[in-house]
Amino acid sequence: MEKVIEYTNGEVTVIWKPEMCQHAGVCVKMLPNVYRPKERPWVRLELATTKEIIDQVAKCPSGALTYKMNKK
Ligand code: SF4
Repeated sequence: MEKVIEYTNGEVTVIWKPEMCQHAGVCVKMLPNVYRPKERPWVRLELATTKEIIDQVAKCPSGALTYKMNKK
């Protein structure tokens, strides 16, 4: 089964599919505070605004990152 890892800042949830990730590093270049490949967890969504996160996820070239808004 495909591996799926979720990260949230309480408002938005980012879904990362490691098998699709091309490690192009676009996410790291756009939001270096949030995406820290050498750390675990490597995604720290609390360090950016929801808008910044959504804009970045849209630019992931492989489709490994997607997001969904959390229900209130
Ligand atoms: S931008 Fe997407 S494909 Fe590139 S390293 Fe980040 S998650 Fe992986």
